[in-house]
Amino acid sequence: MDPDDKATGFAATDGYLRDYDDDLSGALELVATDLQTAGLTRTDAERKVWHSAERTLDFTTLIPGELALAVAETLQEHVMMHVASTWPPCPDHPQHPLWLVPGDTADTSWTCAASGTAIARLGELASPSTAP
Ligand SMILES: [Zn+2]
Repeated sequence: MDPDDKATGFAATDGYLRDYDDDLSGALELVATDLQTAGLTRTDAERKVWHSAERTLDFTTLIPGELALAVAETLQEHVMMHVASTWPPCPDHPQHPLWLVPGDTADTSWTCAASGTAIARLGELASPSTAP
């Protein structure tokens, strides 16, 4: 990410995970992968992700990328209520979690709300050193 983009990092964009428009399971897999950093097993993470996706689809029609982000936000709330009070923790400020900031492509990132720094792409929480 261009450092000059920081100031506008939270501006609304009209695209979410465009690379996954035709790949719901691929988009949800990113969420399930990150959920495992909260201590969930792969099986449990995938079950929660698909369950949440099915419930979301009951009342709305979203493209896969949008659905995956909705699922990620729902499950982040679930984890913070039931598993870890701050998840995923910001590496720079342990007192607050990172939030997903949508991008036009698959580079939607877990981002520090205080500094605007993108810490890890969705699906890469376990290996944040690969973040841009
Ligand atoms: Zn922070």
